Amino acid sequence: MTKFIFVTGGVVSGIGKGIAGASIGRLLKSRGLSVFMQKFDPYINVDPGTMSPYQHGEVFVTKDGAETDLDLGHYERFIDEELTKVASITTGKVYSKVIDKERRGDYNGSTVQVIPHITDEIKKSVYKAAEQSKADVVITEIGGTVGDIESLPYLEAIRQIHSENKAEDVLFVHTVLVPTIPGTTELKTKPTQHSFKSLMSYGIKADIIITRAEVEITDDIKAKISLFCDVPREAIVESKTVDLIYEVPIVFHEQGIDDYILNKLNLEPKHDSNKDWQNMVERFKKATKKVNIALVGKYTELHDAYISVNQALYDAGYNNDAVVKINWINAEMITEENVEKTFEGMDGIIVPGGFGKRGTDGMILASKYAREKDIPYLGICYGMQIALIDICRNKLGLKGASSTEIDPDTPYPIIDLLENQRPNDNLGGTLRLGNYECLIEKDTKAHELYGEDVIFERHRHRYEFNNSFRGQIRKAGVVFSGINEDLDLVEIIELKDKKFFMACQFHPEFKSRPNRPHALFEGFIKASLK
Ligand code: GLN
Repeated sequence: MTKFIFVTGGVVSGIGKGIAGASIGRLLKSRGLSVFMQKFDPYINVDPGTMSPYQHGEVFVTKDGAETDLDLGHYERFIDEELTKVASITTGKVYSKVIDKERRGDYNGSTVQVIPHITDEIKKSVYKAAEQSKADVVITEIGGTVGDIESLPYLEAIRQIHSENKAEDVLFVHTVLVPTIPGTTELKTKPTQHSFKSLMSYGIKADIIITRAEVEITDDIKAKISLFCDVPREAIVESKTVDLIYEVPIVFHEQGIDDYILNKLNLEPKHDSNKDWQNMVERFKKATKKVNIALVGKYTELHDAYISVNQALYDAGYNNDAVVKINWINAEMITEENVEKTFEGMDGIIVPGGFGKRGTDGMILASKYAREKDIPYLGICYGMQIALIDICRNKLGLKGASSTEIDPDTPYPIIDLLENQRPNDNLGGTLRLGNYECLIEKDTKAHELYGEDVIFERHRHRYEFNNSFRGQIRKAGVVFSGINEDLDLVEIIELKDKKFFMACQFHPEFKSRPNRPHALFEGFIKASLK
């Protein structure tokens, strides 16, 4: 029997609804309950795979190959569970399903409408999440802000779920911004009252209100919200701004939100502490060492575009008693002349995933510099392709070696589409996505770090290493330490004579957890600390 928690947002977007939901998930998990999390995104794109990082930030990938909102990354890192396709629902997905059914004649001649057909499809996804995960609690975040036109079907669907189930099985959490008057510390509750009321007008009464504010929320403000919104005082939780996002569950716990939820949902906790998480955060806060990492990318003014990479670096740092300082290097600005200056003082260089030609010259220079100066290098996806281009051009003398993504006419297409990969008109959902098996060669750095012969990692790319260059590249000292045997694809490369020069075709950052940093990131940070 699964319980449902729905998280909505009011007043403004971007106040950390995802982290709030994930923190509740962490607290329930810490009390021994199983948790699954899900996000509704009310946009009409089928998934964010085709959206610009400027619009959307990072595209997170699940093990079963769904391209999703970056909030799923927070969920996985907080609740330490691998989520699946059903965790990411968009208006585009819901409508595609309904329209397919209509074309097949599944609706038996009826007029297809938002209510009940769209709302039924939304409800199904919630029940499916419960059925597939068998979790004690499914937490669903509704993207956007209450009052948005496109969120309406979602709110109607969750209202119906409330009325279809016992009161003790469904809980609504509403997160709001409590603004201050500019130039003062005077908090204003009116927007909260309005947001609560507009939620009421859709038939949803919030059980818990999570507040975000620039200053501390005073007791009389909480009393006021409690009175006007008819929510008990102990159900008003302040989401204080913290240094480490992993502190948020602790802040919530101190205000008793976990016990309040358990009580409301009539759930028996299996144990009564979140000591492990608390100890972890305490340990992180005591980190004494510092390590400077250069992150070379195209969207360096937009840190959300690399959010899982950032978190994976921090996770690996904290677990090695170090605070990672990420230095954002715009790849387009790197030249032969300034490369030395650019990387002055850097302990490690990372080239994360990316698409398209822009900035690749600078990335290749970054790889060359790391290789020649023996600075630890970690290449992820595009970062592996870039490293191989660098090695071919600058070590093997293959002039013009490239990826056909960058130069379709390159004389040495060392990164290319596979022969059976036909050009596809569709941009969306046509990449190599999700988990693939990878065999790790014995006596390699990869084997030392993973300590395993077989691993599974998540992918999101179109191009692959061109096997006809394997022999030549091996001669340049490249070790192919991870191979997908079924498809005969190179997944991990390393340079033996370097302190740390590793790159992978997959995205290890998606599997990093604060309590379990990823092996490759940990190896990279350890080498950078030396
Ligand atoms: N653009 C490259 C490809 O499609 C790499 C993609 C990535 O880094 N995610 O293969």
